[in-house]
Amino acid sequence: MLPIARSLRNAECTTPAAVPHRAGKRWWLVLLIAVALNAYATGPWRVVILVGTDPTLPAAMLQIVAIRGALEAAAPVGAELYVDPLDGVRFGGEALMPEFLALIKKKYSQEQTDLVIGLGDYAANFAARYHTQIWPGTPVLISSFTEEWLRTHPVPAEFSSIPLPIDVDGTLAIAETLQPGARRLIVVGGATDDDHRAVQHAVDVARRRTSRVWSVETWQGLPLPELRQRLASLDRNAAVAYTTMYRDREGRAYFPYEVVGPMAEVSRAPIYGWYSSYIAHGLTAGSTVTFESNGQRTGALATSILRGEVAPAGASLPAAAPRCTANVGQIEKLGMSISALPGDCLLVNVPHSIWREYRGVVLTALSVVIMQAFTIAALLVQRRRRRVAEDEATRRRSELARAARFASVGELSASIAHEVGQPLGAILSNTDAAELLLKSQWAEASELHEIFADVRRDALRANEVVQRLRALLQKQAVAFGPVRLDAALKDMLVLVAPEARRRGVIVESDFAAGSTEILGDKVQLEQVLLNLTINAMDAMHDVAPSRRVLSISTRLVTDGIELAVADRGHGISADAATQLFEAFYTTKPHGMGLGLSIVRSIVDAHDGRLAAAPREGGGSIFTVWLPARHATIDKRNLAAAGDTTAETAPDAVCHAAEGRDP
Ligand code: ADP
Repeated sequence: MLPIARSLRNAECTTPAAVPHRAGKRWWLVLLIAVALNAYATGPWRVVILVGTDPTLPAAMLQIVAIRGALEAAAPVGAELYVDPLDGVRFGGEALMPEFLALIKKKYSQEQTDLVIGLGDYAANFAARYHTQIWPGTPVLISSFTEEWLRTHPVPAEFSSIPLPIDVDGTLAIAETLQPGARRLIVVGGATDDDHRAVQHAVDVARRRTSRVWSVETWQGLPLPELRQRLASLDRNAAVAYTTMYRDREGRAYFPYEVVGPMAEVSRAPIYGWYSSYIAHGLTAGSTVTFESNGQRTGALATSILRGEVAPAGASLPAAAPRCTANVGQIEKLGMSISALPGDCLLVNVPHSIWREYRGVVLTALSVVIMQAFTIAALLVQRRRRRVAEDEATRRRSELARAARFASVGELSASIAHEVGQPLGAILSNTDAAELLLKSQWAEASELHEIFADVRRDALRANEVVQRLRALLQKQAVAFGPVRLDAALKDMLVLVAPEARRRGVIVESDFAAGSTEILGDKVQLEQVLLNLTINAMDAMHDVAPSRRVLSISTRLVTDGIELAVADRGHGISADAATQLFEAFYTTKPHGMGLGLSIVRSIVDAHDGRLAAAPREGGGSIFTVWLPARHATIDKRNLAAAGDTTAETAPDAVCHAAEGRDP
């Protein structure tokens, strides 16, 4: 007899209610010590596990391991487990029973057994029939038997039990979710009695379903090749429910799980089942209870019995709740979607995919990319708007500059009219002289040649002025291109020189930039010189005629060309110095105050720099730096330019006010 049970029985003889309270406390203490001593004195728990099938069957193995774990953790001095495989499903059992019983009786007669556990229908049956012969008085716990078995085999009153929930109903509900259009249900099973019972149970449950009227067929005991052939001819309008196949009709024995893989490999229809051990072998889905959890419950109940915490007769634990389990790889292989499955469905065999495994990272990366795309789009829109605004500003600036050019040219109009009028007058005089010569008898060819040469020269001179004027006032879009600054400035001087002469100003020029080009708009660059020279001449209006000298020079400096316009005028006051380049700042009675602000905006548009400074000896000097078209002008270029300048030094000319009058 179980030592703890024996102790408890002794304890019941003297109930705590029968003794005073303090004595009762002592009684419990004594009892506890007695139990502990008893446990140690009687040694480890001896438990026999009867397995109806081969114990290496995963379902049995998982349970045995779980029971062993629970017992070893709880036993005060360890647990001895004896696993006895009955394997009656494959060996029939009845014919061998007398010898088997004799053997097993002898085997366990030597030592006392504390608990017998029967796993599965066959073992439960065996225990019910023979336990009194083999283990009289020893508690028996049967586990993992089916409801079908229970219906025909009532559990003996002295047994404790834990049934294995077989959730055919829940499994068919999953099939209906995954296959809304399927109506054909094929229940597959083996040829043994157990197989038949399992198939019949599944058929009964399917026929009772109210949510769908299934057309139920059974395929029982088919040899595996034929079964595979039939499965391969199905389509997704059919659902297969696989029960068990311990043996086919030709007598070939299987472990039921072994059949799942070959079936799943070829089946064109999903295969459902309620045993968790099938899932890993290719079952599509099912409502299952894991064998581990059943083993753990069995171990927990066994522990309570062995400790004496519960009386063995009729003890039980509620069955674990079946859970939806789905094989994602299999579902996707069959072209179905897991989206309809319940949210708490356990997903196994989930194929590797970046989306599944790194969803968070992928979502973060995607949101970063989207945000970046938005930022880039916003920047592009902003850039476009800025460009439009810049274009508009450039257009307005160029119109303003053109208006200012008209104003400046207006100031030059008297001298320009004079500059054009003079050659025209000379042409008239020369044509008159030629006419007179032709009318006379003494006209000589050489004289006429000289007159026509003069006419030609004067016409060219007038034409040059007119052309420069036209070019300056022409309405044209700002066009940046390579410009030889020296050449452009010389062209401009053609228009400025007559005004300088009119005002009695001597113009000194020293163009030393040679053929170096800058990237810019020729007309605007000419306007820079025009504005600076007119200002310089204005500044010298009241100085002595001998001091009216305007110096214009260019030179190569690092990375660019420097233009300097210097005068001997009234100079720049401290007050003016701060506002010089502001629009509408003027000290002149009829000035507009736009000349220098336009110069500044032109220089800015050419990425240049502009400065004004008092000049040593009186007057002021305006310096404009413009970047050269080509990259850095290295020392060699500068030296070469210096040489060229030396060679072209005669280019430096002084224009006296009266210098070019004919
Ligand atoms: P405006 O010529 O219509 O006055 P500007 O913008 O060309 O407009 O010049 C602004 C002011 O800068 C002038 O009124 C003058 O006071 C000053 N200024 C320009 N150039 C010189 C110069 N070379 N010497 C002294 N003052 C100058």
